[in-house]
Amino acid sequence: MPEGWQEDAYLRFLTDRREELLGRIRDAAQRAGRDPGDITLLAVSKTVGMEEVRMAWQCGYTAFGENRPQELKRKADAASRDAALSMVRFDMIGNLQKNKINQVLDTATLIHSVSSTPLATAIASRACRRGVVARCLLEVNVSGEQTKSGFDPADVRVQAEGIAQMEGLRVEGLMTMAPARDEQAARRSFAGLRELRDELEQRMGTSLPVLSCGMSGDFQIAVEEGSTVVRLGRIVFDPAYNDK
Ligand SMILES: *Cc1c(COP(=O)(O)O)cnc(C)c1O
Repeated sequence: MPEGWQEDAYLRFLTDRREELLGRIRDAAQRAGRDPGDITLLAVSKTVGMEEVRMAWQCGYTAFGENRPQELKRKADAASRDAALSMVRFDMIGNLQKNKINQVLDTATLIHSVSSTPLATAIASRACRRGVVARCLLEVNVSGEQTKSGFDPADVRVQAEGIAQMEGLRVEGLMTMAPARDEQAARRSFAGLRELRDELEQRMGTSLPVLSCGMSGDFQIAVEEGSTVVRLGRIVFDPAYNDK
């Protein structure tokens, strides 16, 4: 819990904030003529502990995102030992190294961050060895910022079909991160992700229903542009976060 907060007050904050966020997601969806029920709010719990995850679950959150394999596994294992929490979902949203794939295969419901063909190949082969199918999104660097990971859009056009055919892996959609603090650029990134998805669906003749985009500072724009999973961290857990 944040410094100086009591449990009741923090539970009330989490509950009120969740209502507010669901309302803002609903409004953004309606502006775009979309069904708000098509959008998942993933609570990014990477900066908080299991106690806060449990509190967030009490307030109605059922899907969490982590960016480190070890922490993902630690929290998912703790949740699975708790009868009440055993149904919550944990997704992997961060950079994934090949030597950590097995940890993630054991615990993540969806891997958002498949950022290269060698990584996809490694995930597929480990999943096959374990007899599981890894549900994945391809991370695309739509904005082209040097600091961001993910496929170049031109690259994913060439690679997606081969990846989608790998045994042990199921590609369900695309993920991106937009440039921070630039609404126009964020909108272009999210729209670009959607257009790329539409193009790949056409070309591959398969459905790629999931678009994972939108964070604390830009989730309403993401919803307007077609996001089906918003990944919200600070705005969910940090009372001091203010995006207005
Ligand atoms: C931390 C993180 C988020 C959440 O960011 P906030 O700005 O705190 O909402 C979303 N996606 C990824 C990949 C992250 O690492």
